[in-house]
Amino acid sequence: MGGWVAAVSERGSGVLNATEAVRMFQALAPKKGAVVRDNPEVVGIRKGPEGGVVVETSTGEEFSGAKCVVTVGAWTSKLVKSVAGVDLPIQPLHTMVLYWRIKPGRERELTAEAGFPTFSSYCAPHFVYSTPSLERPGMIKINYHGGPPCDPDSRELVSGGGNVVERVARWIDEFMPGRVETAGGPADRLPCMYSMTPDEDFVIDFLGGEFGEDVVIGAGFSGHGFKMGPAVGSILAEMAMDGEARTAAEAGVELGHFRINRFDGNPMGNAKDL
Ligand SMILES: Cc1cc2nc3c(=O)[nH]c(=O)nc-3n(C[C@H](O)[C@H](O)[C@H](O)COP(=O)(O)OP(=O)(O)OC[C@H]3O[C@@H](n4cnc5c(N)ncnc54)[C@H](O)[C@@H]3O)c2cc1C
Repeated sequence: MGGWVAAVSERGSGVLNATEAVRMFQALAPKKGAVVRDNPEVVGIRKGPEGGVVVETSTGEEFSGAKCVVTVGAWTSKLVKSVAGVDLPIQPLHTMVLYWRIKPGRERELTAEAGFPTFSSYCAPHFVYSTPSLERPGMIKINYHGGPPCDPDSRELVSGGGNVVERVARWIDEFMPGRVETAGGPADRLPCMYSMTPDEDFVIDFLGGEFGEDVVIGAGFSGHGFKMGPAVGSILAEMAMDGEARTAAEAGVELGHFRINRFDGNPMGNAKDL
């Protein structure tokens, strides 16, 4: 591929260990008074008899509260449709985490310590991204952004959809020649899901309808929500407790950007401005 590539470098960027980060939040939450309940599946949300919200789980347990925050990732459209009849344009996509083996002798140069960056390559025809070699020594995560639409409750876990894995291999051979083993494919592949909106912007809003401001939705993080977790979490908490996200508004964050009604009569939402 001839021609030139424009690049933007952000020196303050970094890489998070997602599993450790989630573990940390789960350990800190009880210290702030939260009760963490792993595994119950929420199957229903209804208005309480005297106001507030009742959450029903698949084991028959029920929880009552003044407010409810729904953050169920790729299951959001299904759950919201079943409890409120509302169609949210949040499409689950089946994607893959691909780990590739680094060629012997090149392991150190692809680590963060050696200065290897987190990068996204928007070069047509595919969007490929990577983080430095970190959680699995001797391997590097190089993935494609996106994937085929799926049903979160019944998906084909092995394939990445079409020939995307082969296309990532070709991209590696072209842009990182001699550093990563691509013959034979990735050393490991883990199935995962995106919850994609048409404009790839988040949905942060009150559910409305009969639930008014008692149910808050945080969803549609479109493959780039993890790093925003603490900020989005505090916005959702303020919306639930105070009816507005005052801290974010005072900091100049334009939350109108994330409203559900941006899709009313406008299927592409914010993408119309691109
Ligand atoms: C391969 C891949 C790479 C990514 N890379 C990045 C990245 O580099 N940077 C970044 O910022 N973000 C990244 N993301 C995106 C990031 O992971 C998501 O934006 C983030 O996890 C979304 O958080 P969430 O809480 O909305 O959903 P999730 O993390 O999906 O959590 C939703 C949870 O709700 C649970 N749930 C679902 N239904 C129910 C129910 N009925 N009852 C109870 N619980 C339920 C699920 O089991 C799940 O635990 C990536 C995502 C993928 C898949």
